Amino acid sequence: MPAIYVHIPFCQQRCWYCDFITYANKASLIPQYLEALLQEIRLLGSAAPETDKEVGSIFLGGGTPSLLQPGQVRAILSAIQQRFEVRPDAEITLEANPGTISLGKLQGYREAGVNRLSLGIQSFDDIELAGIGRIHNAKIAYESIELARLAGYKALSLDLIFGLPGQTLQSWEASLDAALAAPARHLSLYSLILEEGTFLASQVAQGAVKLPEDDLTAGMYELAREKLAAAGWKHYEISNWALSAADESRHNKVYWQQNDWLGVGVGAHGLCNGWQTANIETIEGYISAIGDEPQSLEFPLSPTNASRLRVDTDDSMRTFMIFGLRLLEEGVSEAEFQLRFGQGMGKVFGREIERLLKRGLIERVDFPDGPHLRLTHAAVPIGNQAFMEFVES
Ligand code: SF4
Repeated sequence: MPAIYVHIPFCQQRCWYCDFITYANKASLIPQYLEALLQEIRLLGSAAPETDKEVGSIFLGGGTPSLLQPGQVRAILSAIQQRFEVRPDAEITLEANPGTISLGKLQGYREAGVNRLSLGIQSFDDIELAGIGRIHNAKIAYESIELARLAGYKALSLDLIFGLPGQTLQSWEASLDAALAAPARHLSLYSLILEEGTFLASQVAQGAVKLPEDDLTAGMYELAREKLAAAGWKHYEISNWALSAADESRHNKVYWQQNDWLGVGVGAHGLCNGWQTANIETIEGYISAIGDEPQSLEFPLSPTNASRLRVDTDDSMRTFMIFGLRLLEEGVSEAEFQLRFGQGMGKVFGREIERLLKRGLIERVDFPDGPHLRLTHAAVPIGNQAFMEFVES
């Protein structure tokens, strides 16, 4: 059963830290883009074998999907519903950014079928928000949460960033408190990554902006772990917390568990039926590729692919370990590994596992389907050290 990721590559303006595939000042292309997107969905849906039609989750991400009107979101979801079999209990998430939403829009998205909202709050501090070029301030962040509540979204997720320019432990704690006071049931807390080529990276390189020291950023993560645990939140993935198991992001778990998903739209990546696909990254290129002569392509390939790779078993086993270890409770299942790859985890990665067990970075825990490996509590902030063992040298 695949999940479907739909990329909406439009933003009002580019945030200073952002290197996502998104474009500012191209909103006039939205109607044409949506035509192309619907066409890609139809092509994939027509080519999908009956066994690959059932869809358990849909994620509209970006970019800023909340720049779309409800009717446009409805058109995307209807196209998916017409060509695939979307389960009645499917999780359908839309990413929304404060500053681009209204009550009418949020209600319209719900009526179109969206049942989970992910709000890009990032911080509740005006200076911090201005320091990363966001279009909203703290007041708009609070208002957005209230709009989501009024529109009836029970499954509400908030994104926050730590390690921001000028951020202190106190201001981070204030943002966490504000998030905890909100009616959210899911939180994604990301450490700011300084991406090459971004405006923020050039500011830092010139010395015009200073980022918090690594120790302080690590302290912010630690503070979040402690506060959220004390408030009864479940830390289920390195950067994600949920109020209960039912509030975990089903869609993102598809990625972490390396199950099948289709990626549609500009720059979207997919992993399905043994293929790894990545779409063309420009809006114009994408629109033009979908208009090319129809080709009969094997599912899940699309004329909009910039790359198509057959999944390599060795890579796939490594990725399974790295992504699976991000799941802090279940980690990776030895039985699942055997089922997928036809060989034992211990046989393939025996030495790596022994080293990590010895260093106290992972532990073996019994589950109903047998032993699982997962990060130890102490290893969570330094998970990368464990992942490195599975990176091909
Ligand atoms: S809103 Fe999100 S996707 Fe758009 S520029 Fe800002 S960080 Fe990037």
